[in-house]
Amino acid sequence: MVFFGVKMADFVKAVLAVVVLRLLQSAVSVEAWGADGHHATCLLAEPLLAPATLKAVRSLLPEYAKGSLASLCTWPDDIKWQHQWRWTSPLHYIDTPDFLCRYDYLRDCHNEYGDKNMCVSGAINNFTSQLTTFQLPLDLAAPYLMTKHDHPNHYNLTEAILFLAHFVGDIHQPLHVGFTSDAGGNTISVHWYKRKYNLHHIWDSELINTAKQRFYNSSLSVMVDAILLKIGGKWVGETKSWGACANHGISCPDVYAAESISLACKYAYRNATPGSRLADEYFLSRLPIVERRLAQGGVRLAFILNRLFAQTSDSLINQK
Ligand SMILES: [Zn+2]
Repeated sequence: MVFFGVKMADFVKAVLAVVVLRLLQSAVSVEAWGADGHHATCLLAEPLLAPATLKAVRSLLPEYAKGSLASLCTWPDDIKWQHQWRWTSPLHYIDTPDFLCRYDYLRDCHNEYGDKNMCVSGAINNFTSQLTTFQLPLDLAAPYLMTKHDHPNHYNLTEAILFLAHFVGDIHQPLHVGFTSDAGGNTISVHWYKRKYNLHHIWDSELINTAKQRFYNSSLSVMVDAILLKIGGKWVGETKSWGACANHGISCPDVYAAESISLACKYAYRNATPGSRLADEYFLSRLPIVERRLAQGGVRLAFILNRLFAQTSDSLINQK
């Protein structure tokens, strides 16, 4: 099987190499869909990027990111409360009709004022499309790349890639495609072991937190490496279909959104009525869903970025 132009055996070797390297770097610092979910999605994607993709991604990141996409994957959450960015708030989720358990782009993708395309799948389409205009800066590009576009880019592609990486994470959190009346579980108050939270927060953060503490030495890196091993192991046969998009699409957010609302109904909302007490039974049966969604988010982000950046240079190199 060929994965991003890399033979599967080489891919598994590369994944193992990354995991071993991480285990050796005991001081990897990654802190807290909350911050952990987004860091995990981007950390899972990074080792799956083709060399040309990595070069393009790094050319778009600000210097202080030190080449790490994961370090800025929470940026859209950090800025969404600021006045000039408030319009981006509805881009983090989709509200679907209560109890329908289905998603429809034309019906559901809008903000509270009814403006079309203002939801997480619309945002993924938009920022994917903006990034197709990317060209390497002249000092990094080979001469044959220079003539591709001779007009200045009117998009801010640094913002575009940070939004894209973040929203691919969000759309995989099942309750980011939830019911309208409870705002994706935000108004459902439940007990998580001994504490009180809303259901949305449990899926954003507490399932991952509890998993980290109980199974992964309280370390997100250890958890990410365990998921990476599953991507190169028991899920390896599925990764290609996770990354595939119909009709030569670069990203296919409608697929990810439809999966999320289905999982929200099957797992997130089930047995989580207001006031209920969620503990081991809920945690242990939902954690596999969370880990698989993080894996799918990371693999799909890598596929999308590789389609955006690796293919162009490959085809140009081939034409040379
Ligand atoms: Zn978000």
